[in-house]
Parts: sequence; C-alpha cells; structure tokens
Amino acid sequence: MEAIGAKSINEKALANARDRRSGLERALDNLDDPDFGLCRICDGEIPMGRIMLMPEATTCVKCAQVS
Ligand SMILES: [Zn+2]
Repeated sequence: MEAIGAKSINEKALANARDRRSGLERALDNLDDPDFGLCRICDGEIPMGRIMLMPEATTCVKCAQVS
C-alpha cells in the first residue's frame, strides 16, 4: 500500500514538473515578445521576482488576485 502511495505521489510530482517545464518553455518563447513581463490585464509591469517564481504568469499579482 505504501509503495502505491509513493508511486502516485511521484507521478504527481512528475506531472507538476512537466507543467512547470512547459510554462518555462512558453516563457522563453515569449522573451522576444515586447509585452513580456507586462500584465495582460492592466499592462502593469510584472515584478521580476514573480516571473522567476512563475514564468508562466501573464498577470501582475494584483490582477491575479482579482481573477
Ligand atoms: Zn495587472
């Protein structure tokens, strides 16, 4: 039973890592985009710390909380 639990946890971690990687790849693709780093809702600047933590973020902290 424990082995099965560990396996599903590992699979979840792996799936999370894959999600994260595709987000990072998307962010890398967008580096050339003049809008990169700008919130798609308010056009405000997304703090670099947020982009580093969540490269896939397309909104600033404020707009992310509202939506
Ligand atoms: Zn915003």
